[in-house]
Amino acid sequence: MSDVAELLQRLVRIDTRNPPGNEIEAARMLGGWLGDRGIAWSIDEFAPGRANLFAEVRATKPGRSIMFNTHTDVVPTGNDWTHDPFSATLIDGVIWGRGAADSKGSLAAMAIALARFAARRDTFSGAVQLTAVADEEAHSRGAKRFLEQVQQRPDAVIVGEPTDLRLMAAHKGSLRPVIEIIGRASHAALPQHGVNAIEGASKLLSSLDGLREKVQAKAHPLVGSPTIVPVLIQGGEAPNMVPNRCRVTFDRRLVPGETEDAVIAQFKTWLEAFESSTEGYTARIVDLAPSTGGPSETLPDHPFVIACQAGLAEIGLPTALSGLVVNCDMSSFRAAGIPAVVCGPGSPDVMHARDEHITVAALERGVDAYESMARQWLAGVGGVA
Ligand SMILES: [Zn+2]
Repeated sequence: MSDVAELLQRLVRIDTRNPPGNEIEAARMLGGWLGDRGIAWSIDEFAPGRANLFAEVRATKPGRSIMFNTHTDVVPTGNDWTHDPFSATLIDGVIWGRGAADSKGSLAAMAIALARFAARRDTFSGAVQLTAVADEEAHSRGAKRFLEQVQQRPDAVIVGEPTDLRLMAAHKGSLRPVIEIIGRASHAALPQHGVNAIEGASKLLSSLDGLREKVQAKAHPLVGSPTIVPVLIQGGEAPNMVPNRCRVTFDRRLVPGETEDAVIAQFKTWLEAFESSTEGYTARIVDLAPSTGGPSETLPDHPFVIACQAGLAEIGLPTALSGLVVNCDMSSFRAAGIPAVVCGPGSPDVMHARDEHITVAALERGVDAYESMARQWLAGVGGVA
């Protein structure tokens, strides 16, 4: 069997569902695998069972560095799997299991690519690093922890997520304002004495199309337009009362170039227009529900993007840039000022879905892609960053 397929099977068989994560088991197994290949590694257990793995291969000559980064945690499995989600069953060149694509497939391919560099330290200059971080699927605590602790930051990062090996240089972010509409309570038998907050929420939502048109007027070349969706509604106190309070939570996806402040200001303008066109209501943003953070991008003419494109071209893979509609750890590296892209084997369609799987052929292409992109960057392709 191919090395990358075997390593992926070992990773999938370790249950790292988040919550609770327990990524340390996967980190220890992978550390042992890397150590057997002469690669220096360390584990940072930053909370019980929650751990980042760091590994590094230094060339004989100094130079730039590049980091392969992905995560060891996986999302819960849900029901109705054809194969046990932790069996990593291999049938007809396909490996089935939770994390096969997101993102243990990337991790296995990155580890094999790193081992290729370790076997030939005289064929490149600089350093190739690997981080397998915890908690990407929840709060990105692993990536944030790594960036707080690291002594010397990598010069560039490839984040492994299933993209069918398409190169992603931008992703959307999200913001989730909780809006409270206040009216006035009264007996339900005397509704004329009250101002019904649920009816107020309904009026506000009927003006959503106007706001959506403004929101979607913007478009980013790689990730498309921002979106706005009401996702939660909560109101009323008793079946015999006109409700004085109703809350609506919105999921607003941001594209690179949009700021959270500007988005909040846009919401406020919308709420002011609602207040002035209705009688007796106030509407305010009272909270921001947890979200995965802001959007980010690495510009298409950045030397790192050019080097990655050269690496993909060298092995006959498409070089067109695209973007992700969801967030990932790329945002943490970009927030720290480090150029980053996202690329990995496996289809984005199987992420978080039942019967997640990946082909061995895709994994093997992934190993070649990571090695080739890293070699181009370390060789100085793309120019000075
Ligand atoms: Zn992922």
